[in-house]
Amino acid sequence: MSDPSQTLILQSPVEGIVVPLSEVPDPVFAGLSLGEGIAIDPLGGCLHAPCDGEIVQCARTRHALTLRTDAGVELLLHLGLDTVELEGQGIELMVSVGDSVRAGDPLCRFDADVLALGASALITPLVVTEPAAWHLLPPRHSKGERVALGEELLVLTRTSAEQDEAATTKGPLMERCLTLALAAGLHARPAARLRAIAREYGVNLEVHLEPATEGAGANVESLSALMNLGLVAGSALRLRAQGTRGEAALDAAEALLTTPEAKEHAAGTTQAVPTQAFEKELETGELAGLIASQGLATGPLIVCRPPLPSVPYDGEGESVESPRLKQALNRISDDLAKAEVQATHQGQPAEAEIFAAHGAWLEDPNLAAEAEARISDGRSAGQAWREALDAEAERLAASGNDLLAARVADLRDLQRRVMVALSGDNQEAAPELPEGAILVAEDLTPSELVAVADQHPAGLCLSGGGTTSHVAILARARGIPCLVAMGQALLEAAHEAALGSVILDAEKGCLALKPTPMQLAEMAERIEARRQQAETARAAAHEPAITLDGRTVEVRANIGGAEEACLAAASGADGVGLLRSEFLFLGRDSAPDEATQREEYQAALTALDGKPVIIRTLDIGADKQLPYLRLPTVPNPALGVRGVRLWQSQPELLETQLRAILGVTPLKALHIMLPMVSEAAELREVRQRLETLAAELGLSERPRLGAMIEVPSAALCAASLADEADFLSIGTNDLTQYTLAMDREDPALASRADVLHPAVLRLIQATVAGAAKRCPVGVCGSAASDELAAPLLVALGVDELSVEPARIPAVKAALRHLDTAALAANIPELLALPDAVSVRLRLGELLALDNEASPITTPFARC
Ligand code: PEP
Ligand code: MG
Repeated sequence: MSDPSQTLILQSPVEGIVVPLSEVPDPVFAGLSLGEGIAIDPLGGCLHAPCDGEIVQCARTRHALTLRTDAGVELLLHLGLDTVELEGQGIELMVSVGDSVRAGDPLCRFDADVLALGASALITPLVVTEPAAWHLLPPRHSKGERVALGEELLVLTRTSAEQDEAATTKGPLMERCLTLALAAGLHARPAARLRAIAREYGVNLEVHLEPATEGAGANVESLSALMNLGLVAGSALRLRAQGTRGEAALDAAEALLTTPEAKEHAAGTTQAVPTQAFEKELETGELAGLIASQGLATGPLIVCRPPLPSVPYDGEGESVESPRLKQALNRISDDLAKAEVQATHQGQPAEAEIFAAHGAWLEDPNLAAEAEARISDGRSAGQAWREALDAEAERLAASGNDLLAARVADLRDLQRRVMVALSGDNQEAAPELPEGAILVAEDLTPSELVAVADQHPAGLCLSGGGTTSHVAILARARGIPCLVAMGQALLEAAHEAALGSVILDAEKGCLALKPTPMQLAEMAERIEARRQQAETARAAAHEPAITLDGRTVEVRANIGGAEEACLAAASGADGVGLLRSEFLFLGRDSAPDEATQREEYQAALTALDGKPVIIRTLDIGADKQLPYLRLPTVPNPALGVRGVRLWQSQPELLETQLRAILGVTPLKALHIMLPMVSEAAELREVRQRLETLAAELGLSERPRLGAMIEVPSAALCAASLADEADFLSIGTNDLTQYTLAMDREDPALASRADVLHPAVLRLIQATVAGAAKRCPVGVCGSAASDELAAPLLVALGVDELSVEPARIPAVKAALRHLDTAALAANIPELLALPDAVSVRLRLGELLALDNEASPITTPFARC
């Protein structure tokens, strides 16, 4: 018999079918962000206590409760998924906070029919949110097994002295000194990554100033403490890791902190010109600011600062307010995780990273402790959170460090979100803006900006903030001209009633408060010229892109499914160069059947109205996984069975997909493309399969069949591939990864994994040469929309570029200003350069993107 002082048994809270937590269709549970555990798809109608303990939290919406054992282990029982939306309908709680329960006692009854209507699933996770000094053993039940109510489900054992030794806070202590290379300093996103490293390697990780200063150290679990260290590029620091995998954790942390960030992620490096703005000569009546997002605007200044939601000042006691706060934090954490997943799926990495950083900050134990202390002093959860974040925001603002000050808006965002959750109000609607307004605020939170951006403000001026703030990144992503760090004078000026239209010049970095009619007219002309440039590009988007030297380049769209196909058609796409069919296979329990696939492919084809549509067959493996395929875990998935290699082990998947594709009309517009091809035999095999299927279906036509060039072997053997293929398309994302041996998912290598590396360019050249006179070559990787790489690709001989639908007008416009023959004359010089940085520099000079006319392009249209 097990010793109860050393073993904690959790009984099944309900009869049901076991679902591994990692397979729960909710990223928060599946990603184990709340802790380890298991889930049950319930067959009964009541949840029971899995062990003895005290109820320490009941959700207002009755769908979740937390139980704490005498030993301090905390367990979350979450009835169904997305059940919070039901607002308690169909759920009856039989306990309340503070109740002591025995294992098997009923906790809540539920009506499965009511829940099934409103929730996304009834699957009920049981999660160990606080293991204390206990260790969860791997579950004995496997997926699909039926468990009875009260049956032993999970076992936790007390961590032994030896295990403690191996655990994070014990084990060998090691240190490493380094110099921070992040241009924007240790800001929220790298801080969040540092915390993820500590968790991944199970170590206690601290960052200390170097030389050592009393008290100047921070545990990476606290983002605020980390950022309060005020580390900027060039700061010397010491990492201290404790745990058995400390060495590996230090390696990962060092790589993160000593590798400059990718250009677009190192906010402020792309367009912001922090210092020049203040050095420039100001005219009377002008305010200077830092350029956070380039552009021009005129219009009235409108002050925007929605008040914080109201929350009671006094609390109802610690036992009520403390669980209330935890519940609100969990809910916002869920929301942020979902927003991150959504942004990732929508191809908005900058936004996804911001949500991830906010999520990490929300879990900062220091912030929670500050709020808890105020709850103990009698404040309500909302008031306690408000005060804790006010105090933190003041600390950051007073730090004298621009980078930290720029994080205040993020804190305010978290302050507002949690207070809204605690006040029971809905997020207030964004204030209504008059047309063409230039928004003024002390600082805006990222979610405030997202909310007002839908009303298309003409510009944005912030008295605070910084070029590295998340709101600056979002303004750039949305093309809203924005100046920041303009000081109190901005707010004073904005409140001046007599102010008419102002001029926001976020190219020079100034705001003219009282422009003369003449100045307004001049600015209106400049804005009009830019608008016309963009409009000309949009108006000509449906025309072919013909270069100055007479080459026609097809500009097609990269899409994920039928919905985007409509967008592509409206944006002037000459076809679809890449339909990533795997999107149709993601977020499901099983692969879509033939009819579902056919419907999607047909809709895409119909939207493009006879223009070619290239459907790439399922590209799974490496960074893209489908849980239901149960692919074996291998040490190097990027070098494993992925893309076309999958058909050896999963032939039925290919058969179904090919049948679905062969079912659409007109078949002549449809092309099939195979991912990750490394030799001609792979193409031959699929062509044979296609022949057999088409013959079985009695088809007289055959779709064209092409191969992606994503690995060096394919590029070097392009001629033999081209003999078998009807077209080739270069996937520069993977080709760059495999040529440079740099993981495309590794943020530490992001700035170096550049398609303009001469080695990658030589492989592209080899592909074009191999395919010459055999078949056309396109590019569907992201290099096709890179304003420097795209002209070079065309000069190298590529016939077609495939880009995001929104980029089509600008890419076409740029191509119309390009003399490919003149650029081609410089290819030998470019390919002889030693690295990507040199190629970028030289190409920039040759293409004169800074609006100086060059022999190769007329001024590049930025639309
Ligand atoms: C590529 O590798 O460049 C490509 C287009 O494929 P994906 O990005 O989907 O891997
Ligand atoms: Mg690829």
